[in-house]
Amino acid sequence: MQTWISDIEECGIDHDWRSHLRSNLPTTESFEPELQNIVNTLRNGKQLTLEQGIQLWNYPNLSVVANLADACKKARFGNQVFFNSNLHVNQTNICTLACKFCAFRRGPKAKDAYALSVEEFLGRIRPYEAVIDEVHTVGGLHPDWDVTYYESLFAAVKSEFPDIHIKSLSAVEVKHIAEVSGISPRSLLSRLKLSGLDSLPGGGAEILDDEVRDVICFGKESSDEYISIHRDAHSIGLPTNCTMLFGTVESVEQRIAHLCKLRDLQDETGGFQCFVPYPYLPDNSRLPEAQLASGSEILRMIAVSRLMLDNIPHIKAYRMNIGDRLSELALHHGADDFDGTVGHEEIMHEAGSSTVVGYSKSELTRFIVEAKGLPVQRNSNYTKFRRYDDDDEHDCAIHLPISTTAGD
Ligand code: SF4
Repeated sequence: MQTWISDIEECGIDHDWRSHLRSNLPTTESFEPELQNIVNTLRNGKQLTLEQGIQLWNYPNLSVVANLADACKKARFGNQVFFNSNLHVNQTNICTLACKFCAFRRGPKAKDAYALSVEEFLGRIRPYEAVIDEVHTVGGLHPDWDVTYYESLFAAVKSEFPDIHIKSLSAVEVKHIAEVSGISPRSLLSRLKLSGLDSLPGGGAEILDDEVRDVICFGKESSDEYISIHRDAHSIGLPTNCTMLFGTVESVEQRIAHLCKLRDLQDETGGFQCFVPYPYLPDNSRLPEAQLASGSEILRMIAVSRLMLDNIPHIKAYRMNIGDRLSELALHHGADDFDGTVGHEEIMHEAGSSTVVGYSKSELTRFIVEAKGLPVQRNSNYTKFRRYDDDDEHDCAIHLPISTTAGD
């Protein structure tokens, strides 16, 4: 396993970023009057309001919004762009829910339904063991699996791969497993942390508005439950990511309000590491009324997220969803994290993604370098870093013919 050769002091967050931003911003007078109050708010180190977020969204010139977001990103990280070396494994595609946007879930009797045993799960990791430091694992809501399956799973992963970080379970999985087990989400998370769970991904947020959720994912955890489960995780020392699925039936106001809800929890706990906005992909799903985000809209969403979320350090360009080329452009719109090498991925590919998986680090970092970024490998919790080196002894791609199927 690789050695981390630099630490947060060299490559991490610049805690004095607000003063850098103040000095990097062009004069307020150089902006059109309708943006001047927003620029002043940024200059004063204050949070943008919901109304200002909507105003930014509606501002016609995307490149101006992009430049503001890029200034925020550069004030924090300079030209550094972070990536990790990871693998997605889904433990089951059997799900008791049927979210309309989901192309991944299967009923238990479907021909291609699967539920991995612990040994099968370990077998998915073994080929990648030498080149990854994170396994990202989410899945459907299996009707029978309770906390004991996940305790066995995480303990077995930690026993065989002690250096691999386990990022697992979306909020709705936490809610479901806790219900099946007859315990609270907080107790569940405490037990799973003892078994080896290191952090939670942010899946399941969709849009944190219950009217939208009733249309696109009826029966899923409510907006308040999503926030409460992440609060529970943060309270016991489990960091989490947070997400947004946009481009279904929500309004612009509902998108910006979603950002404000995440920001409020972050003010309270500080436990979010990264925000991951991604658009709805329509293949094999059931939302004919979806609005389907355009390329400009995706980039604007990333830029506005950077500007609204002053307290969440990292904004991810999720290339499994938006592709390599749009992800590269996102690095000029406020994103600082270029997802990972991703040895294998199912969820987005079931929904229509054709993004390449199993990149070597040199294949992945080519996009960062082309965008004039400085590639920096990170660990899962953004506490250890190493600048990418072409002579990296572990720099090899692994392409395995694992069948695809996908969730949160
Ligand atoms: S998004 Fe998650 S909870 Fe919803 S149907 Fe798909 S797998 Fe099940």
